[in-house]
Amino acid sequence: MIRRDKKLEKRIARERIEILLEKALKTELPFSRRYVELAMRIASRYRTRIPDKYRNTFCRKCYTPYTSTTSKIRLDRGVKVIKCLNCGFVKRIPYKPRR
Ligand SMILES: [Zn+2]
Repeated sequence: MIRRDKKLEKRIARERIEILLEKALKTELPFSRRYVELAMRIASRYRTRIPDKYRNTFCRKCYTPYTSTTSKIRLDRGVKVIKCLNCGFVKRIPYKPRR
């Protein structure tokens, strides 16, 4: 029996996720949605996290990347509210307002 090199698997998975998300941000819908979906699937399969810089770049419900036409961003009392215009999912990210 050949032992699986889990470290290597994870490294390759991370690499693939990076490539797919990079592609998703550059391509048009509906292909970009598919790229995000694949990246999410790899992430869950190999138990790796989506890199922080991509965390808020797509809707986690329908995998649509956030752009000016697919999302609406508003600031509301210390909370950044991102609304997905495809499925209506609302994501709230707290931030510190400047005085
Ligand atoms: Zn959505």
